[in-house]
Amino acid sequence: MSARIRPDLESIPGYVPGRSFPGAVKLASNESTFGPLPSVAKAIAEAAEQLNRYPDNSSAELRGALAEFHGVDVSEVAIGCGSVALCQELVQITCDSPDDQVLFAWRSFEAYPIVTQVGNATAVQVPLDPAFAHDLDAMTAAITDRTRLVFVCNPNNPTGTAHRREDLIAFLDSVPERVLVVLDEAYYEYLRFPESDHPNGIELGRTRSNVIVLRTFSKAYGLAGLRAGYAIGDPEIVTALQKVHIPFSVNRLAQTAALACLQARHELLERTDRVVAERNRMREALMTAGYRVPPSQANFVWLPLGERSADFGTASAEAGVLVRPYGTDGVRVTAGDPHENDLFLTFATAPETMTRFLG
Ligand SMILES: *Cc1c(COP(=O)(O)O)cnc(C)c1O
Repeated sequence: MSARIRPDLESIPGYVPGRSFPGAVKLASNESTFGPLPSVAKAIAEAAEQLNRYPDNSSAELRGALAEFHGVDVSEVAIGCGSVALCQELVQITCDSPDDQVLFAWRSFEAYPIVTQVGNATAVQVPLDPAFAHDLDAMTAAITDRTRLVFVCNPNNPTGTAHRREDLIAFLDSVPERVLVVLDEAYYEYLRFPESDHPNGIELGRTRSNVIVLRTFSKAYGLAGLRAGYAIGDPEIVTALQKVHIPFSVNRLAQTAALACLQARHELLERTDRVVAERNRMREALMTAGYRVPPSQANFVWLPLGERSADFGTASAEAGVLVRPYGTDGVRVTAGDPHENDLFLTFATAPETMTRFLG
């Protein structure tokens, strides 16, 4: 017999390692395929010499650099052990009872339901619209007296769809001030809307004390393995985040590497043009073959294959490319290097595959 564990955790699935496919190309986790820049690797190696010392719990240097980069005050910047840790901390600072509701679109980032349940709050999911985008009007309509937090994932993981500036402004204007809105912009660097439509949550949040924006070093900045994300918002929210922060959870290497990435941002952000070109090429090729593919503003594409999603994922893995199936909704495919994407497209557009999955 073991010690008593919260019974509600039974409904959160335990971690199940996927089948391994040695040598397979991995287009399953939206990572950057580029390794760390030499300047970043050097900063990490130097910081490693001080690993006997605790890191700065306030990440002061990194926060200062981010404040300068975004033109905000240091008191408006919080750092997390990946932005997923900030998602959990945002639930912790807003919800203290199962009566409290956390609202988000579905399907969206798989961490939202988990952090909500771990935070002892109640998830309210609003289905995506027929174009696989957030149904912002339905989300507004779903806000109740018990709503504490709303996650808006823009661009949305896993469907890649994004809302333009005007739509977001209208949505933010419709949310009561007592409700905290989290704009999760993990894929912000891959947005390619015209300037007038460009949705920059940090700009929109500047005049709204109930809006906080999440960005991460895990995707375009290529640091998924080190865990650093950040939030920008009202100082009162940032102070509350610091109170629930797990001490020292943003480690020394992560802080140093994130700082080095920020300094090398021009070089890193240039790489996103190549990723965007590949994402567009993949979408075109898949649509030409007859797949439905919603327009993507992220570093992945979405194939709404319904009941066939799991089998498509297995068949792709057997063909040497790991992709990410989501239940009976669809399959997400990350844009990797051109030769990796070619391998996937060869599989996806092969006559056997098309007969099986599009027929
Ligand atoms: C990848 C991702 C994140 C970032 O997670 P990290 O914890 O920073 O690695 C956050 N939100 C969404 C929607 C993501 O897809």
